[in-house]
Amino acid sequence: MRIDLVSEHASPLAALGGVDAGGQNVHVAELAGGLARRGHDVVVHTRRDDTSLPQVVRTSAGFTVEHVPAGPPTHVPKDHLLPYMEEFGRQLAKRWAHDPPDLVHAHFWMSGLAAQRGAAGSGVPVLQTFHALGRVKRRHQGAEDTSPPERIDVEADLARSADAVIATCSDEVAELAEMGLPPERAAVVPCGIDLARFRPDPRGVPVRARPRVLCIGRLVERKGVDIAIRALADVPDAELLIAGGPPPAQWSSDPEVARLEAVALEAGVADRTRFLGQVEHDRAPQLYRSVDVVVSVPWYEPFGTVPVEAMACGVPPVVSAVGGHLDTVIDGCTGLRVPPHDPAAVAEAVRELLARPRWRQEMSEAGVEWARSRYDWNKLVQETEVVYRQVVAAPTVVSGGGAP
Ligand code: UDP
Repeated sequence: MRIDLVSEHASPLAALGGVDAGGQNVHVAELAGGLARRGHDVVVHTRRDDTSLPQVVRTSAGFTVEHVPAGPPTHVPKDHLLPYMEEFGRQLAKRWAHDPPDLVHAHFWMSGLAAQRGAAGSGVPVLQTFHALGRVKRRHQGAEDTSPPERIDVEADLARSADAVIATCSDEVAELAEMGLPPERAAVVPCGIDLARFRPDPRGVPVRARPRVLCIGRLVERKGVDIAIRALADVPDAELLIAGGPPPAQWSSDPEVARLEAVALEAGVADRTRFLGQVEHDRAPQLYRSVDVVVSVPWYEPFGTVPVEAMACGVPPVVSAVGGHLDTVIDGCTGLRVPPHDPAAVAEAVRELLARPRWRQEMSEAGVEWARSRYDWNKLVQETEVVYRQVVAAPTVVSGGGAP
């Protein structure tokens, strides 16, 4: 098939180069590369955000990236990109008028707008993956949400008009149903991780003088790192490592670091809390393998790669029971789920895990098995392809995807 992916702000080239790649860049790069390996002709359309970018790039992973001129050829924050999506769509329409793909898969809501505009009237099916939903973000962030106000209504329109929606977790399908999406037009295909790198230490778990707990991720309030710090007060002896955020030279001017340091002081755990700053993604597996438990307790989470990486490395995660975590972490088997915003529940879960090494070991083995069986990109690309084939054969009827 000729498959065109649209990813307006997140270029897969950033993921291949390893610079500043977020989840969507990695997702699009893995999907495009995996589909190309399976023999498909894959083109990714992303916004031209740098004058030095050639119009067309053929990647060593076997797919093509086309840079679409829409808006200024410089970095523009994604919450300011909406005004350029009409032009993005016009460019796609021009491109597809003489060379239509078999299907289009849009990533993020604004790509959906451009893709729908580009494919209008052509009969080419358009599939949608949201990666995150504006209504969930608004519910949790309120006035601090900087998304354009139109986002929530546009997402509901896109969900209804897309030929199929590929969600990354079952909680998202429930949100989409409330937005008016008939369940038969949604499939769940989760995000994968790099299983060649995220794997357990073959030498087993090292003996440590003091138990170690890890939080890793962007240092933003909604990730709930303060909840892990407060929990530490009720986990005697343990040390908490916090990876993510700015480099040490910028800590004094970073408001989130200052807030978390104040929480650690107030909770009486400053001497057991260590900020590591941003850890290179290549070094993340080794960091996971150096700890006993990973804590990831955000207020909400569209998917949540961290617990999957932790399980793949053989480290049980303690997670908030929200969003993607409800699918990724099997409670009591591959990790523990606790209510969000609940330091006492986090402390209890971590204490239990630390106090019962045999149980932790069983959970570690189950987690490795689960991560390898469910979050392998190769399998997830095949599952996505199954949905594509259903849509091409019978647009607007899709069912299933894999198990969540
Ligand atoms: N990460 C990293 N180094 C850091 C902090 C985070 O490599 O210092 C990676 C982490 O391993 C994971 C990703 O950033 O792959 C975070 O993904 P997640 O889905 O948990 O959260 P997001 O940032 O997409 O909201």
